[in-house]
This record gives sequence, C-alpha cells and structure tokens, in this order.
Amino acid sequence: MSKERTTRRVLKRYSAYNPKYFPLCFLQKVFQNLFFFFKLWISAEIVNALYDGRERRELYLLVAAALLGIFFTRAVSAVLGRAVETALEILENNESAAFQRKTLSLDYNRLEDPQIRKLRSKIDENKMINSYGTVHMRRSVLSFMDCAVNILFSLALFGGMVGRMVEASFGWQSIVLLAALAGCLVMSIICQFRSTKKVGESWDAIGDLMLRENRLWRGYHPEGTDNRIYRQQAIISRLNEKLSENHRQAFQKVNNESFLLRIPIHVFRKLTEGCSYLIVCFYCALGAFSVGELIRYAGYLGRMIDSIWSLFVVVADVRSNRQFLETYLEYFEIENEMYQGSLSVEKRSDKKFDIAFRHVSFRYPGSDIPALRDVTLDLRVGERLAVVGMNGSGKTTFIKLLCRLYDPQEGEILMNDFNIRKYDYRQYLDLFSVVFQDYHLLSLPLGNNVAGDAAYDRDKAERLLEEVGFGERYRKMPQGLETPLYKDFDADGVEVSGGEAQKIALARALYRDAPFIVLDEPTAALDPVAEAEIYARFDQIVGGKTAIYISHRLSSCRFCDRIAVFHEGRIVQTGTHEQLLEDTAGKYYELWNAQAQYYA
Ligand code: ADP
Repeated sequence: MSKERTTRRVLKRYSAYNPKYFPLCFLQKVFQNLFFFFKLWISAEIVNALYDGRERRELYLLVAAALLGIFFTRAVSAVLGRAVETALEILENNESAAFQRKTLSLDYNRLEDPQIRKLRSKIDENKMINSYGTVHMRRSVLSFMDCAVNILFSLALFGGMVGRMVEASFGWQSIVLLAALAGCLVMSIICQFRSTKKVGESWDAIGDLMLRENRLWRGYHPEGTDNRIYRQQAIISRLNEKLSENHRQAFQKVNNESFLLRIPIHVFRKLTEGCSYLIVCFYCALGAFSVGELIRYAGYLGRMIDSIWSLFVVVADVRSNRQFLETYLEYFEIENEMYQGSLSVEKRSDKKFDIAFRHVSFRYPGSDIPALRDVTLDLRVGERLAVVGMNGSGKTTFIKLLCRLYDPQEGEILMNDFNIRKYDYRQYLDLFSVVFQDYHLLSLPLGNNVAGDAAYDRDKAERLLEEVGFGERYRKMPQGLETPLYKDFDADGVEVSGGEAQKIALARALYRDAPFIVLDEPTAALDPVAEAEIYARFDQIVGGKTAIYISHRLSSCRFCDRIAVFHEGRIVQTGTHEQLLEDTAGKYYELWNAQAQYYA
C-alpha cells in the first residue's frame, strides 16, 4: 500500500463519518486567519496615519473599522468554533459506532482470533500513545488547512512588498539575506523531518511494550474479592511499581530524545525568523517601506515562513502516522471467511429439523490440541439431550459448532441431510436460542432484555418471566417491564442478583421461540438443587422444541431422554441415565459416583 493511498483511503472513510466536519474546519481557519491578517493590516494603517500626522477624523475611522472588523471576525470564529466542536463530537461518535459495527459483523471465529484481537488492542493503544491513528491524521489535516489558508493570504498581500523591494534595490546584500533565510528554513525542515521520524520510531517501539503491559493489567482485577481474601495487594502493588517504572523509563527516554532533537529545530526557526525581520528592516532603511508597512510586512513574512515550515511538519507527520493508519485500515478490511450459504431454511411448523454430527473434529485457531475429536451424534426432533463431562471436555465447543460459530476442520454437520454450511447463515442461526455461560444482559429496561428488541409483545414477556420463576420478583418491580436493569444509565435501575439475571436470560431464550434451545451451564452459579429445579421447570416450558442441556453436574440432567458423555473431546458414551449407570466401567458411572455424595 503506498503512503499516500493509505492516508487518502483512511481520510475518505474518516471524513464520511461526518462530511460537514472538514468544510466547517476550513471555514473556521479562513476566519481565524482573516482575523490575524486584518489585525496586522489595520495596525499598520493606524501607525502610518500617526506617523504621517493625518487628520483625527481619519484616525478615529480607522480605529472604529479595526474594532468592528475584529469584533466581526472574532464573533464568526466563535460561532464556527462551536459548530466545529459539535461536528467533531458527531464524527467521533460515528467513528466508534463504525468500529463497533465492524467488530459485530466479524465472523465469530475471526473475533476470537488472537491476531485480530491484537490488531484491535493496537488501534486503541496507538490512540493512547500520542493520539496516533485517525486523531493524528485529523490534526494533520487541520494543520494543512491552516498552512494553505495562511500561505494564500500572505501571497495575496505580498504582491506590493516584492515589487517595492525589487524597485528599491536587489544587490548582493539582498541575495545574502534571502539565501540565509532560505538556508535556515531548509535546515529547520530537515531537522524536523529527522526528529519526527526518530520520535515516531521510538513511540512505535514502546507501543509494543505498552501493549504487553496493558494486557498484563487486564488480567488483574484489583477490585475483585480474591485480592482481599488472598491479600494480593502486595503483588499488585509490586507489579504496579514495576510497570510504572518501566513506563516512566520508556517515556522518559523518548521525551529526552525528542527534547534533544527539538533544539536544532528551534535554533534554525529563530534564525529564520531573525532573517525575515532583517530583510524587512533592511528595505525599510532603504526607504522602500513606511514604518507601518514594516510592521505589516514583517508579520506577513513571518507568518508565511511559519506556514511553509508547518507544511513540511504536516508532511513528516503524515509519513510517521502512516503505519498507524495501516493498522486501522487493516482492521476495517478484514474479510469474513465463513461461507454464508444460500439454501433457505424451510419454515416448518412441526419443527422437524434433524441434526447429525458426522466424524466431526475441531481445533481452535492457533491451538494444536483438538477440542473435538471424531464426534458423531444424531439430534432427534423434540428430544431432550444432556451433554455432560468434565471441564474442558468439549461441551461448549460442541454447541459452538452446532450453531456454526465455527466450522469443523474435519467431518460434517448435517441438517435434514444437507451440510449446515449450505444454509443461509442468518436463517440457520435463527433456529437456535442459546444461553451461554457468559451471557450478558443489557443496561436497558427489563422488557427489552427479555425480547432482545425495542418493540415487543408485553403479554408474552410477562408470561415467560412468570414461567422461568421470576414472577414474584417481577411483581415487586414498580415499573414492570419498563424497569431499567442496572444503574449504568438510570439511577432508578435495579441491580438483579446472579440467579435473577439467569432467569431473565432464560426468558430471553424462550422469547425467541426458536426450534432449538440450548442451555450451556447458565445455572453454574446456582446450587445443584436449584439448578435441577430450573432444568426440570424448563423442560416443561420448552414443549415440542429440541433442547440441549449442558452441565458438569450429572444430577441436573437425569430427566433427559438421552445423555452424551464427553471426555477429552470425544463422545465416550450415550444413553439414558439408567443405561449409563449400568456400565460400571464407563466414564458416566465414574463421574456420577464422584458427584453422588453431594446429592445424597
Ligand atoms: P467444556 O465446555 O467441556 O468445559 P470447552 O468446549 O469450553 O470445554 O473446551 C474444550 C477445549 O478447548 C479445552 O481444552 C479448552 O481449553 C479449549 N478451548 C476452548 N475455547 C477455546 C478458544 N477460544 N481458543 C482455544 N482453545 C479453546
């Protein structure tokens, strides 16, 4: 990707988040500069008038014009400033929304891909370090606008000055002064380029360090109860000190480097400024300009030289920011790989969807160990299937493959004799209601949570809350279905307990009315008796649907028509509770006996 193309492409995407933003900024820059040039021009006029001893009336008029002009340009700038702020807010909101949309649109397997996770953290991290990425790009665009407007204004006002300089004299002194000015300017630009490049590289180098440390931090939860019980504060404090020290050293190194690199830039800039004053004073002494014009032209020249220098800073900044924009673009350009399928899922009132796993094996991306090995299983319509096994035996992976969050590397999964890959992906997903272990409720009203939607059937939501055993609590909620959950957005929001949240999540799964219902240990936080109760109640509610219950507690699933026992990624046994117990050498018998003491 060429440098220009990356920046141009990101800029196009970025400005589309609010097309009004950059035009408004441009107008603002025009007015801000107009204000500066007008002030300079009118001050010079007033000095000239005083110097020439012009009439008082003329002086008063000039002062009045100055005040009026300054008031006008300032007022317009202030109004534009407000509009620019609002436009930026909209732009940044839209940018975050686009980022979230992209994340949500990624295939689940891409989302979990360690490489893609790293890319996402890198974008966040870049933003934190010197605002690299789109923020840096936005600032470069604003600087560019500022320089362009300044140079245009200066050039337009310069015409008279150059003419008079040439007329007055153009001897060796002028050439030496102009050459010194150009030389200092070029040197300051070269130093600036060097500094931007070096500092950019240094920030990039410590960016990786920060990425690692941030990730380390994310694994620690200082507010967690574990830290109280195990008195982990000491380890955390030590870790914190070490990280802070690492950060401090890294930052200090870059800041020192940046400070040293800035010295020659400042020296050459001051020399350039000095040369520009010398030139104007030289011609003033030759009588080419009046005193007022000395002020005016020194100001114009200084401003123009500053702008030319800043233009090169923008170029250097754009170059140093390019790699950060590439990361940004890379994320937006991740393509989904999952085959979307085109076969329509038949709308069947009899819910007759037979599913069959045929020799399915699966490995997570980046993992060498198979999470599922040669799994073969038929799911019969309307049956209650329990999936049991120890932690890490592959139960959740089995569900993830069933819902096509991942595709298996070996074997196939069939629905009504067709590979599930062939079905339209969205339609296929609609067949499942799943309550995963790590379900989340939203900080929105209860009714919206149950329906998973803004508009919903109130009677149905209330009935389901009753059925999952949330009725008593529900009747105590003064705002009923409008009761906000949690206090994130509403001080009146209610905090629901873990058990209550699980019931709401169950009601949400039922509300969807999908032919398959899967409960992946959503009741893990409940005690075995409460879990068994919920499962039994749920069994009545699901009616003719096919239901899959996952649990590592065997007692909860005794009521199921069939139990599949997972061990190390394989299905080692299937049968009813009674059948499985008969095999005293089997895994189920071993697990049951290990757990039986708890249910006695
Ligand atoms: P269970 O639900 O029976 O506890 P899982 O299906 O969650 O087991 O996990 C099966 C195996 O796959 C385990 O060894 C687990 O460490 C591994 N695993 C689960 N999720 C991932 C993942 N996202 N990436 C890599 N390995 C995973």
